[in-house]
Amino acid sequence: MSPQPLNIQVVGSELAVAWNDGREDYFPLEALRRACPCASCAGEPDVTGQLYRPIVSYNDKSFGITKLQIVGGYALQPVWNDGHSSGLYSWQYLGKLASDLPPPS
Ligand SMILES: [Zn+2]
Repeated sequence: MSPQPLNIQVVGSELAVAWNDGREDYFPLEALRRACPCASCAGEPDVTGQLYRPIVSYNDKSFGITKLQIVGGYALQPVWNDGHSSGLYSWQYLGKLASDLPPPS
């Protein structure tokens, strides 16, 4: 069972997540958006299993969050300022992202 978030909020240009195991993670919004797991950002494997990675263009509104929605108690669905909202960041995925981020300097 992966940890559940107790609190999620946007603080400045970061998403702050407090987990129920006592950990806190801060995700820079830009990194979070670039890691959007939806099919139009991250791509989908084709029939041969080859991952097709779409070219995603961002604008100055792409790295801000309008609204945070929790989906089904297992994932975060941010609504970005440019209107994009199809990415579901499961708690597990966020945990993985957190361990991929460089440690705070
Ligand atoms: Zn996306």
